[in-house]
Amino acid sequence: MTKRNPIPAAVRQYVFERDRFQCQNCGRSSLQDATVKLNVDHIIAIANGGSDDLSNLQTLCDRCNQQKSKHYSDRFRRHFL
Ligand SMILES: [Zn+2]
Repeated sequence: MTKRNPIPAAVRQYVFERDRFQCQNCGRSSLQDATVKLNVDHIIAIANGGSDDLSNLQTLCDRCNQQKSKHYSDRFRRHFL
């Protein structure tokens, strides 16, 4: 059974502030560039046993977040082939 709870707004805000509104992969900041859209990302995906704990959450921009999810789905497929 996979639990995929949406991250509460207050938690997202906390993670963004902790990471200074900066993507933890490429370093782009929504404070410096209004086109940067930030997401809260699970460092270890829930599907891989990660938790919703703050220590498993980081700020990523949508570009990095998309690249990461592609990477994960590739790994996921390999794992089950
Ligand atoms: Zn990024």
